[in-house]
This record gives sequence, structure tokens and C-alpha cells, in this order.
Amino acid sequence: MRSFRSQEEARDILGQTDRCIPRGLGRSYGDCSLGENIISTPGFRRFIHLDPAKGILECEAGTSLDQILSVIIPHGWFLPVTPGTSRVTLGGAIASDVHGKNHHLHGALGRHVLDLRLLTPQGHVLVCSKNENPAIFQAVCGGMGLLGLILSARISLMPLESVFIRQKTIPAYDLDELMSFFDSHHQSTYTVAWMDCLQRGRHLGRGLFMHGEHCRSHEAPQSQLIPPGCKGISIPFTLPFRALTPAGIKAFNSLYFHRKSRRTGYEISSIESFFYPLDALANWNLLYGKKGFLQYQFVLPRSTSRSGLQKILQHINSFGQPPYLAVLKLLGKGQGPLSFAQPGYTLALDFPIRPGVFSLLNALDRVVQKLGGRIYLAKDARMKKHMLWEGYPRAKEFVELKKRLDPENKLSSLQSRRLGLCQNPY
Ligand SMILES: Cc1cc2nc3c(=O)[nH]c(=O)nc-3n(C[C@H](O)[C@H](O)[C@H](O)COP(=O)(O)OP(=O)(O)OC[C@H]3O[C@@H](n4cnc5c(N)ncnc54)[C@H](O)[C@@H]3O)c2cc1C
Repeated sequence: MRSFRSQEEARDILGQTDRCIPRGLGRSYGDCSLGENIISTPGFRRFIHLDPAKGILECEAGTSLDQILSVIIPHGWFLPVTPGTSRVTLGGAIASDVHGKNHHLHGALGRHVLDLRLLTPQGHVLVCSKNENPAIFQAVCGGMGLLGLILSARISLMPLESVFIRQKTIPAYDLDELMSFFDSHHQSTYTVAWMDCLQRGRHLGRGLFMHGEHCRSHEAPQSQLIPPGCKGISIPFTLPFRALTPAGIKAFNSLYFHRKSRRTGYEISSIESFFYPLDALANWNLLYGKKGFLQYQFVLPRSTSRSGLQKILQHINSFGQPPYLAVLKLLGKGQGPLSFAQPGYTLALDFPIRPGVFSLLNALDRVVQKLGGRIYLAKDARMKKHMLWEGYPRAKEFVELKKRLDPENKLSSLQSRRLGLCQNPY
């Protein structure tokens, strides 16, 4: 793994290796930032410019979102789109074209990038935006680091009056009710649902729907940046047993559902607890034990979402492999050829590695494929080539562009080779 502190150093590294892949903070769940040679970006993290009047930030791509937040929040700005962790780099977030709980209204991060500087595998620096090199710009957002190294980006920020979120949780007793809340709250800035995948029969798809808004200044209870009591705790080592057993999860789900269902009014949360609950628990992944876990995230078109989600939940039930976490969101339109989003519902499921889990995921793949869905590349560690090529109809366009920008196929990850993203296999 090699890191760099200047554009020249980055160019030298690219020039000296015949195969490599950029890596930010490694928060993607699979092998998209793994390969023989890794160009590590977090050392390249200078702030270039903040326009506090217009809310425009320019910084180097290795800057993490939590570093960005610590600078922009005091000026009254927030990220226009944020994933569920702030421990990712700006470059990694653009390369995955990450989405947040507001995708139905605000799209993915790429929509808010004004321009970016890309170091191509041939050593040229290209400025890319909606107007300059627009095809490259679109493809780099969500391009998984395969078209070049993002050096820096300029993004437009969202104005913020306080560091609090006014949120409400509504219980839904089945899948139809849960999905109907996304429709009835389409104007809410943030919407997301937690699903209890262990429910069957008439309670299949039971869950908790949450919607939230940034508090206006007069609604905020206090003004400090980090509310007290937000200090993180840490899992010190890999647990020798699976701390989260199916029976334990079942009990937890039931308790969680009923406790949250009793809260009928609005609650005020900090930005940290609303957007980044796992960031408070360092090494949370160790809770899954030595064998770890896989996250499986797919999106289905709106027209097939209901039947697809029902089938997926039934498969999970009949395989007896409960995911330990299931998060449902509604997405709007995507942009780039490899961007994940398409209008419809996305479900992210955390499965501990256990015998049979790969057969279950193969069965889920078949449902997703048949119903016109796709799997999120940032969460993928195992999908087969055909899932990519059927799920992402613009992948061919991406590969054509890659041939032009990277004729020697210098940028490749374990994932891109597994999926045939380096040259069109069909
Ligand atoms: C707890 C948790 C919650 C999450 N929630 C969400 C969510 O809500 N929504 C969502 O969309 N994602 C979510 N993610 C996924 C995460 O946001 C993405 O995987 C993100 O890309 C990780 O950024 P990173 O800096 O860790 O990049 P890495 O994981 O290191 O790399 C990701 C990809 O970006 C490429 N890359 C990295 N830096 C550059 C660069 N400078 N130039 C070009 N390519 C580069 C890599 O080659 C790789 O293909 C979550 C992840 C975690 C762990």
C-alpha cells in the first residue's frame, strides 16, 4: 500500500505500477478497494477553500466526512448527502456515489459535486463537471475508482440552523403499511425504516418508519456542536462467540419494536445519533465474531418493489438465516452508468457468515435479477458477473469509457476483475 501527499507523488505512484486501485478509509463492505497494489488516499486531506457565504467547499479527496463536518458545521453548513458513517473519505464517497436518507429528494452525492479533479491512469489531470468532460464526470461518480484517482472536489453544501434533528418514529405492522409511510412522507427530508425480518405471516415486513428534519434555530434545545454524552465506546477485540445470536436478535427486535412504538411524539436527536449511530461504537463489526458478516444491499424498481420485498423476506424466513440488521430506504433516479440508485426501494441486510448464507444470497440474487433490480457495488463481495451486467444496463458504456481513459487497464480491483468491469465480457 502506498500513500501520497501531493499530485506529483500520486502521478509517480500511478506511473510506477502496472495495476492498482485507490483506497480511502476502506469502509466499503467488499473488495472494491482491494488489489495487489493500493493507492491509499487518507494522507491527501487538505482543505483548499471554504466559501462560508455560498456554502461551497473544496478539499482533497482523502479528507474524511467527519473532518469536513468539523469545519463546515460551525459555519452553518452540512453535507447535502451523507451515508450512515462519517468515517469515509470524500473521494471514496464520490467513487461510490453514496446515497443518504434523503435520496428521494436530493439524489446521491454526485449531484452536489460542482467539479472534481481526476488524475487519469495516463497521468493527465482532468477537470470534470456537468459542463466539462461531462461523460467522464458522470461515470467517475459511482465509478469505483476505475477511471482515475479523484484528487479533489468542490461540493455545494446544505444550510444548517442547528445541530439537531426533529424526528418521529411510526410503527408499521406489515410491509404494505411500512411502504405506504414512504409515500405519505415523500416531502420529509429524511426517511428510513428499520425492518424486523423475523416476522412472518400477517406481520411480514413489520418495522419502524422514521422521518426527520433539521431543527430550525428556535426549535433546537441547545447550541453546542457535540451534545454531551455522545462520546463513542469501543469493542476492544473480536468476540470469541457470536455476540448476536438469532434468539437474542429476536428478543431484541421485539423489544425495540414495542419500545419505539410507544413513543408517539417528535424526538430531538443529535446529528451524530441520527446519521451516524454506528460511529459511536468503534469496531462494531467485531460484534459479528471472527467469521464476520456480509452486507447485501439491493434496489428494486418501484413497480416490483412490493412483490420483491415480500419474496425476499419469505426466502429469509424459510432459510432460517435472519439478518441482524435490515434498513429500508426509498431511492429516486440515479445518474452515472454505475451509480446504484434507481427509483424504487433499497434494502440493506447484514448477514453473519454462517453455513448456508451464500446459498441464501444466491436465491436472493435470483429474485433481484428477475425483478429488474441491482446490487450495490460498495456493499458487494460476492456477486456474479451476470448480476452486474443485467442489473446495470449502462455498464457497457462505462467499459467503453474505461478503454479510452485506461487502455492498459491499470486501475483494477479484485471486484472489477471478478465482475468483468475491465473489459466487456459479453
Ligand atoms: C456503517 C456504514 C454505513 C454506510 N452507510 C451507507 C449509506 O447510507 N449509503 C451509502 O451509499 N453507502 C454507505 N456506506 C458505504 C460507504 O459510504 C461507501 O462504501 C464509501 O465508498 C466508503 O468510502 P471509503 O473512503 O471508505 O472508500 P473505500 O471503501 O476505501 O473505497 C470505495 C471505492 O472508492 C474508490 N475510491 C476511494 N478513494 C478514491 C479516490 N480518491 N479516487 C477514486 N476512487 C476512489 C475505491 O477504489 C473503491 O472502489 C456505509 C458504510 C458503512 C461502514
